[in-house]
Formats: sequence, structure tokens, C-alpha cells
Amino acid sequence: MKMPIIDFHCDALSKMLLDPKLDFARDRRLDVNLRRLEDGGVKLQTFAIFLSERLGPPKMEHILGQIELFRERVLPLGVLPVQSVEDLNTLEQGEAIGGLLSLEGADGLEGNLHYVRVCYEKGVRFLGLTWNYANWAADGIMEPRNGGFTPAGVELVQLCHELGIILDVSHLSVKGFWELQELAEVAGKPFIASHSNAYHVCPHARNLRDDQIQAIIKLGGRIGVTFVPWFVKAGKSGSSRDLLPHIERICSLGGAANLMFGSDFDGIETHLTDFKHSGHYTNWQETLLKYYPEELVRGWLYDNAAAFLRAWLPSHK
Ligand SMILES: [Zn+2]
Repeated sequence: MKMPIIDFHCDALSKMLLDPKLDFARDRRLDVNLRRLEDGGVKLQTFAIFLSERLGPPKMEHILGQIELFRERVLPLGVLPVQSVEDLNTLEQGEAIGGLLSLEGADGLEGNLHYVRVCYEKGVRFLGLTWNYANWAADGIMEPRNGGFTPAGVELVQLCHELGIILDVSHLSVKGFWELQELAEVAGKPFIASHSNAYHVCPHARNLRDDQIQAIIKLGGRIGVTFVPWFVKAGKSGSSRDLLPHIERICSLGGAANLMFGSDFDGIETHLTDFKHSGHYTNWQETLLKYYPEELVRGWLYDNAAAFLRAWLPSHK
């Protein structure tokens, strides 16, 4: 039995932009390709638009370039773009695999709020506010000064709330996190951490502290447990079993219904020993079923993320 899976983060587009020869259908240099999504039972994949430092200063044209690439090299293979509740329903009724667009870092928006609207019109539904460093909107988690939002960044948050772009706090500074939490609470809009683990289990700056996990849960947001080895276990590379303490921690804080997965495949050079690409999701499902009841596993693999999308994607009705 293969359960459907939603994966909330991969960087395949960024890799494909840098190497035009990569074929999304089955190129083995891609952790995420169509064949592997099928093998692993992934029903819906979020594709991050990540602007590599190799592209030079981040620009809107790089964002548009990756949206084009998604349209020209991913969708023609039969991937269904998911931008609304109706799209999600269509996806669930058919055999196709879905693709959702997310922007990782506001850098390329160049401080221009009109560009945010353009991204929305082109189907971007999630926005990670920063990558690791400061940008015009806010500070990232590796910025030593730990600043929060700029006034323009606050405007960006408000516009996203208005448009229905869902915010993502993976990579955001701790100060930024709490400022967003306040804005989100006032607006009644939950946010997600698409690819972050529990700091209590693995004290890496990119992971979430207990109080942050609790704040996300309280707002009804989602946390995508991620397979980046150094966010899973300090020191030597671990295996998928080392993800279990992260799941335990989030659940112990009350987050069983808020947990999902965000692999970060194609954004990492090294992998967990037994979880190297999307095709391995089948094994991961088996591992989870050894430890947890089916209903919980189904929730983490699919239902929790789907319920969130159903609640927060735009609906044409
Ligand atoms: Zn990332």
C-alpha cells in the first residue's frame, strides 16, 4: 500500500536553471524527478524558486526565469499546477502529480511590491521571507545581528496576507519570527516552516525552538520536517531513523496535526544514508508504519498538508 505524499520543499528548479541539460523526466542527477516522484508515491511537490548566489545579485528576472522553467520543463510532462482549492480537488481525483510554486527568499523581488502581485498572478502561493542572510524585507537566521523586519518587509507581510500568499519562516531570523508571529496573529493568518526540524533534538540555528514550534501550532500552521543531514543530527550523517526524535518532539508539543515533510532535495549535496531522493519515500512510509498508527502516518505524509492547503489556498467559489 502506497500512501500519497506531499513534500513541501525542493530546489530542483534552481538546479535545472543552472544546468539546462537536466531532464526533469528521469535525470538521476536530480533528487526530485518525475520518475522518482512516481516511485515514492509523491502526489504533490512544492517547488521552491531559490536564487542561487551563482546567478549574481538577486533579480526579478531570475524568479520569472524559474517560473518559465517550471512551465516549460516540468508541466509539459503532465505535472498539474496547483494554485487553488479547485486544483487540489482536481489533483486528488486524478492520477497526475501536482506541483506548487514557492519563492524562497524575498531578495529577488527587489523591494518592489508590484512584483509580489506578479508572482501571485503567475501561481506562486508561498513565500519564504529570507534565505540565510539579510535582504530588503528582513534578516535571515545566519545574520549575526539577528534583526527583524524592515518597514518595507512589514508591508510585504501585509500584502501577502491580503493576496493570500502564505508565509514561510524557514531561514528567517528569530527576531523576525516573533515579529511575524504578532502580525500573523492580528491578521488571523497561520504560517509554515517548510523545511526545519526541532532545535531541542539537533541544536542547529536553522531548526525551530520549542516556543517557535508551539507558536506555529497555536496559529494552526505547519512544520515540514526536513532531511538535511546536519539539521537532523549533529556530527556524522544519520539515517531516516534519526528523524523520529524530531517527530516525537513536535508531537510532544502538541503538533501531531501540524507536522508534514519538506525534504530539501536538490538543495543539499549530502543526504541521510537511506533517504537520498523522492523515490525513497516508500521506505520512509514503511519505517513510520513500524512505529506509529496508520492514521498518524497518513496525516504526516499527506492529510495535514492537504488540510492546510484546503484552508488557505484561494478558492474560486
Ligand atoms: Zn532552504
